[in-house]
Amino acid sequence: APVIVWFRKDLRLADNPALFKACQTGQPVVATYILEDQTQIDFPLGGASKWWLYHSLMSLSAALDGLGIPLILRRGNPRQILDALCQETGADTVHWNRMYDPYAQTRDTEIKAFLTNNGITVHSFNASLLVEPWHVATKTGTPYKIFTPFWRQARNVMSSTPPLPRPECPPAFQQSLQSDHLTDWSLRPHPSYWAAPLAAQWLLPSGAGIGEDAAQNRLDDFITCALPDYDTGRDRPDQKKTSQLSPHLHWGEISPRQIWSALELIDPLHDYSGQFRAELGWREFSTHLLYHFPQITTENLRREFDPFPWRDEPAALAAWQKGRTGIPIVDAGMRQLWDTGWMHNRVRMITASFLVKHLMIPWQQGAAWFWDTLVDADLASNSASWQWVAGSGCDASPYFRIFNPVLQGEKFDPLGDYVRRWVPELKNVPAKYIHKPWNMTQPPASYPAPIIELGVGRTRALEAYKNIQN
Ligand code: FAD
Repeated sequence: APVIVWFRKDLRLADNPALFKACQTGQPVVATYILEDQTQIDFPLGGASKWWLYHSLMSLSAALDGLGIPLILRRGNPRQILDALCQETGADTVHWNRMYDPYAQTRDTEIKAFLTNNGITVHSFNASLLVEPWHVATKTGTPYKIFTPFWRQARNVMSSTPPLPRPECPPAFQQSLQSDHLTDWSLRPHPSYWAAPLAAQWLLPSGAGIGEDAAQNRLDDFITCALPDYDTGRDRPDQKKTSQLSPHLHWGEISPRQIWSALELIDPLHDYSGQFRAELGWREFSTHLLYHFPQITTENLRREFDPFPWRDEPAALAAWQKGRTGIPIVDAGMRQLWDTGWMHNRVRMITASFLVKHLMIPWQQGAAWFWDTLVDADLASNSASWQWVAGSGCDASPYFRIFNPVLQGEKFDPLGDYVRRWVPELKNVPAKYIHKPWNMTQPPASYPAPIIELGVGRTRALEAYKNIQN
């Protein structure tokens, strides 16, 4: 009987324990990806995520073909579909790699119980974390809420087993199974003009650029070209100094263990990867938080923020979303996000801080926009990072520390190249004014004036914060 492998956020062949162990059984392997009814899920796929998923599944399907395993695409309720697949194929074993968000946890537990009751064996594996969230705990057995001790402990308990290779071809499964056509899943964006800039950013002319091979290439390029000065370069949105591996990691086109083991090959005498490893640590920490505190997706982790007088400002929110706030570094970031589905980390912090502090708009509204527009939209990292910026997370930047977007821009985009790239209205503005065009005698007429005077926004936010402290 064949073994069924249910692909989810692990869209790769190498270092994929669910697939590897299935191939190792010597039985034929049936691979499936199930698109769930998006109206039934707490956090349905955002627009950019769907676009990425489309291309990632194309790539996975081609790679699996190379192993003689067709990828069976089905749409609907995963329990019913897995049950049907077991019955159609006679399979008595199902493999998958674990997911950690609350919805998937509940779903997987129910499916496992259901299948087990029906005599099907389920094996689940860790494929997306360096360390399981339940393997890192304080001395008293509680989850960590602070990054530094979490990471110290995580590094102690992290397994040092090397990543698994691509599996060998299993015996072919002779029966042909019904599969949907990917093009019928409406994953590509409507309106379709959104797809062009996304494709320009991520797809190579050959159509590659998304998927396992692309992720490996990106990692290799990053280690050679950008890692040596990552410590300082990572804060510069005007330069290409970060890995841009986030969507590949999110969709599991590469595993953190593969990245870790590539870093281990660096000569220890010249190992400059500490900061980069710590960023992978933040990814682990975010998942640890989501797993132990599933409410972080919607509720303040620090409940003293509950009475905060957030403002309901649809016009300001729309200006922020469209990159029309009149604050150059904020607008550049928001337009980079819209066009490419990705934004530099420093600018994510600046744009998020501007929304929750200067505009006093709830972090949940910002997180929702990021969720829809990021190709790396990740429930753990997005929720934890927004709470970090808002000050409502456990190990958060304090609310009273308010980023000044002008000073941030001058420090991290000193010549204004990043702003000019994304805000063409400012392309002729000299560096001296690029982050504060309102100080020019004649600012470019096509660019909006700031929707809020920065000093006014800052004072208002600090007042509001003081009031919830009392
Ligand atoms: P690199 O600097 O090359 O880092 C390598 C990897 O480490 C990243 O690919 C990512 O997986 C991980 N990483 C780096 N920084 C962080 C971080 N602060 N928190 C968690 N993981 C991190 N990241 C997401 O993957 N998905 C999100 O939805 C997301 N939302 C965010 C929202 C806000 C408001 C902020 C401030 C940050 C958010 N981040 C999110 C974290 C971070 O901005 C991105 O992971 C990073 O910019 C991705 O670029 P990179 O791959 O070049 O990162």
